[in-house]
Amino acid sequence: MTKCPECDAEIDLDEDEVEEGEILACPECDAELEVTQTHPVHVIVLSEDDDEDDEEEESEEDDDDEEEDEADDDSPEDEE
Ligand SMILES: [Zn+2]
Repeated sequence: MTKCPECDAEIDLDEDEVEEGEILACPECDAELEVTQTHPVHVIVLSEDDDEDDEEEESEEDDDDEEEDEADDDSPEDEE
């Protein structure tokens, strides 16, 4: 049984139905998975944490055009 490396969900893949290099989407977490091996089926995650857009520490450009207004943070959090 192949497991999604991202969310650990079991993915029912038939080794005869996939090819090396094939891109799949995890039915559970919707991560993009690439088949790197077919006997047995092994997949790797292509897309990393796409949901977290607030990680922008890699941009080292001094961009004055972007205004960051994170000081005014009184938006209510969604709690159920
Ligand atoms: Zn997954």
